[in-house]
Amino acid sequence: MLYGAQIWGITDGSGTMPKSRVKALKKVQNQSLRKVLGAYKRTPTAALEREAAVPPSNIYIPHLASQRAVTTSGFPATEAICTALNDVWTSLERRRPAGRTRGRRPRPHGPRPSTIIEAARQAAIRKTKQIERVQEKARNAAIRKEFEAEILTVGGTLGRNQDMRNRAEDRLQTDRQRNEPQTGGHRHKHKKKTPLEIWYDALWRKRWKQQAEGGTATTWQNPWTLQTVPLYEGLQKHEATALCLLRTEVIGLNAWLYSVNVPDILPRCECSWSTQSVLHVLCVCPLYSGQRGDLYSQAGSRDLTEILSTPRGAQTAGRWLIRCGILPHLRLAGQIQQEDTGDQAPFPELDQ
Ligand SMILES: [Zn+2]
Repeated sequence: MLYGAQIWGITDGSGTMPKSRVKALKKVQNQSLRKVLGAYKRTPTAALEREAAVPPSNIYIPHLASQRAVTTSGFPATEAICTALNDVWTSLERRRPAGRTRGRRPRPHGPRPSTIIEAARQAAIRKTKQIERVQEKARNAAIRKEFEAEILTVGGTLGRNQDMRNRAEDRLQTDRQRNEPQTGGHRHKHKKKTPLEIWYDALWRKRWKQQAEGGTATTWQNPWTLQTVPLYEGLQKHEATALCLLRTEVIGLNAWLYSVNVPDILPRCECSWSTQSVLHVLCVCPLYSGQRGDLYSQAGSRDLTEILSTPRGAQTAGRWLIRCGILPHLRLAGQIQQEDTGDQAPFPELDQ
């Protein structure tokens, strides 16, 4: 679906894509994310994108396009096109006859305007430089802070300070070199983010933050740097669904059902507590007090946000919700999983 997005995803100077260009793609992505996570229709898209770690299409596509614009800058074809365009432009300029402008279309003058891709390339380079400046500043500040702390601890004479200052200068230098982009063919498993990746991640974060404003569910409470995918790793589909529902709190418990005006539902819990919320079910409700000990000990915490924010806790909570059978639509999946399938033969492979 994103075929050629590096070309058609190029944006104008403002950096945003026209809505009409991504509308259809956005819809497909939303539907897919809902299926993958098993989330309800009412779950905000920003929460789905965050849980699945899939950026919004109107951020991802311009990112692809600007990455491509930078990559192609040194290509022979790019240079050939640029030379040809310049030649056309200067030939038009040269042909302008002096003093004979009447009746003719005005001739171009001044420097050749940038093509769309050239403008995109320049914008991408500006973004890269902006991020690099911020990084450099942060790095220097960190080194300076470390150095100052060292001076404070050691105290000492002026001479010693001077010596340490020199050492710190050296360190600053080596640190700068160490942070230079590596050009060898060596590939790291966790490769460092490129400035453009950082720039577009910051844009996504900004949009997400606006959505997260005032949200109480764990997904909104977590800091942006928390990695969401590891929370789901190793879970079966229905368990991952349960976890997503717990983290977004768009979940078929009475408190939420009542909040969206489902008929004949009251927010209260069967235990007669006034609201059946995620917090109530996991940490308070006496109906599940028997199972709660397991939850706490396996999750390694008694705090709801903490449980749902670590891989260990989150996976425990997802499985726990299935075992308790609180959500009717996940109960069947839980029963199937517990069924003894030892005497059943697996499906034969197709090519046998
Ligand atoms: Zn209760």
